[in-house]
Amino acid sequence: MTPEKLAFERNKLHKRLLRLSGKAIADFSMIEPGDKVMVCLSGGKDSYALLDLLRTHRERAPFAFSIVAVNLDQKQPGFPEHILPDYLRSQGVDFHIETQDTYSIVTRLIPEGKTLCSLCSRLRRGILYRVADELGATKIALGHHRDDILETFFLNLFYGGQMKGMPPKLISDDGKHIVIRPLAYVEESDLHAYAQWRDFPIIPCNLCGSQANLKRREVKQLMRDWEKRFPGRVDHIFAALGRVTPSHLMDARHYDFRTLGQGLADPQVEGDRLFDPDALASDAPEAQVQRIDVRSLQRQRSA
Ligand code: SF4
Repeated sequence: MTPEKLAFERNKLHKRLLRLSGKAIADFSMIEPGDKVMVCLSGGKDSYALLDLLRTHRERAPFAFSIVAVNLDQKQPGFPEHILPDYLRSQGVDFHIETQDTYSIVTRLIPEGKTLCSLCSRLRRGILYRVADELGATKIALGHHRDDILETFFLNLFYGGQMKGMPPKLISDDGKHIVIRPLAYVEESDLHAYAQWRDFPIIPCNLCGSQANLKRREVKQLMRDWEKRFPGRVDHIFAALGRVTPSHLMDARHYDFRTLGQGLADPQVEGDRLFDPDALASDAPEAQVQRIDVRSLQRQRSA
């Protein structure tokens, strides 16, 4: 690739990442004037990219908000303590390193051979919420991206019997913290490319010695295969997560089937199609809207 072509491609990638993260921030009202956003930095490509993009959004936003980067040093063997502080200082980013030896706790409590992640992430969550309080952060930003959201959705579907993904914005159980995922629309492959280009000092993510989740790897591979064989399928599934019709599913917690028809006051969102011939959802007029949105997301990616 010529240097000109490379510069062009990188510029395109940067614009796409800013556009998609900006769209997610706007679509879900993630950041508001005066917010202090605590960016959780693990040392992986996703959180570096998140911090980088949010800093650019902050420069361009029509209102003021601040950013503080936080890393939780869990005392995993071989964790290179200097890398993040050195990087953050060189970038002029306000930051806090929280040191808590969760590694010892987890390895002491979990029998050998069992997965450490569930206890580890519960401890980490509690610590990060406390740190957010201490720093006065109003939002906690995590680096999960589109592929994380889809993988979680399929894991819940295949192994948990639930239709549940990973929300772009959520409030903690105690109602005190708002967690945001500004990379919700961003593909992982773009984050790989961005991290390479920006030469982020990546810290390996296997220091805890926990085995990578086999089921998650399977789902990742499944999505890769689909994308090869049926280009656009993954985008369609992702778009579907934002277009749910509770009246056409079977969860009575989200649609009041019990009183349906009693007052005739709740028409079906999609109208009555009971006597229509069977058709693919994509043949229905409302799917035209769906197509437009999927294409618009695809266009935004390839622009
Ligand atoms: S992979 Fe390691 S650091 Fe991450 S949640 Fe699991 S045990 Fe904790």
